[in-house]
Amino acid sequence: MNDLISLDKQYVANTYNRFPIEIVSGKGSRVVDINGKEYIDMGSGIGVTAFGLADDVWASAVAKQAATLQHMSNLYYTEPCANLAKALCEKTGLKKVFFANSGAEANECAIKVARKWAAENKGEDCYTIVTLQNSFHGRTLTTLAATGQDHFHKLFKPLTDGFIHTPANDIDALKKTVSDNNVAAVMFECVQGEGGVIALDKDFVKEIAKLSKEHNFLIIVDEVQTGNGRTGKIYGYMNYDITPDVVTTAKGLGGGLPIGAAMMSERVESVLGFGDHGSTYGGNPVCSAGALTVINRLTDEFLDEVNSKSEYVFSALNGAEGIESVSGMGLMIGIKTTKPAADVVKAAIEKGVLCLTAKDKVRLLPALNIPFEDLKIAIDTIKEVAK
Ligand SMILES: *Cc1c(COP(=O)(O)O)cnc(C)c1O
Repeated sequence: MNDLISLDKQYVANTYNRFPIEIVSGKGSRVVDINGKEYIDMGSGIGVTAFGLADDVWASAVAKQAATLQHMSNLYYTEPCANLAKALCEKTGLKKVFFANSGAEANECAIKVARKWAAENKGEDCYTIVTLQNSFHGRTLTTLAATGQDHFHKLFKPLTDGFIHTPANDIDALKKTVSDNNVAAVMFECVQGEGGVIALDKDFVKEIAKLSKEHNFLIIVDEVQTGNGRTGKIYGYMNYDITPDVVTTAKGLGGGLPIGAAMMSERVESVLGFGDHGSTYGGNPVCSAGALTVINRLTDEFLDEVNSKSEYVFSALNGAEGIESVSGMGLMIGIKTTKPAADVVKAAIEKGVLCLTAKDKVRLLPALNIPFEDLKIAIDTIKEVAK
């Protein structure tokens, strides 16, 4: 283990402050480290392994596709990609999907769609995209510009031009921003994930929808983290009764393999034409075959279970000793603890529960199919170490 740490420190870029744990295998919501110690996984690779580790259905679809056709260029048709796009459109009512490899890239596509749509419909000087303060949209220079947190920007300037940040849940500020600027789109997360698991107010999101009609701009919802069942609906925007123009997703979609998607409504489905955008790996057959097993299992009955697990977590934690508040939606949960979040996470790991942080909160993103018994053990442990 110490050898691995020094090897990693010597050769891997220093961008991650890793815990001194080497994970070697996993099954469902349990993972095992090099010493044979077992943990309950309440992070699922930051909301990626939606159906847990080494999930049988996902793994067999992936293995079968890998042994049949692991990649083909986008010069030809392949079945998994088309089937996945169909499934996504049928579940959302959106009309077309562009496939990328990550959340940031899905957002890049949405931004390109908004810029081209605005250039064609409102004039080439209309390119401003309004995003929210405390948002997170990715790490490329353009999605960093979209991200409304200054500390990510420092020393990486100049970033891509054309983004304005307005405070979340402040309707007056939003109205002023979209009146004072020539706006192409407003882009937001329904629940700010990296920003501390904060759900947007229903009234605020309704106001975005209302203003989008008055000022003729697009609504882009970044569902990279909130998508694919995480909030208890297939996509987070469905909790808000709005109809977005572009919905982006990634993380849980692939169930553990890299895939991102930008889904487009009827209004913008024809904005991108031949040569406007592309990705060598986009819609890769193996990633798509795995993703299809994720999307196909997000049935109403399954989502009811996600919601009952969510209710259990909220009621078990609310009012418990050392827990100040619980935020979020579905199985995307932020916990404000009296003790520093990092200390709670460290103590939980020692007791065999892996959790995440987001800003000053403990963050939970368990697999959507985590067994109730594992969830209960994990929550009891968190309560104990938060005391
Ligand atoms: C994680 C995340 C991203 C970036 O996704 P990557 O796959 O790391 O590029 C973008 N937006 C939101 C809301 C995210 O949570």
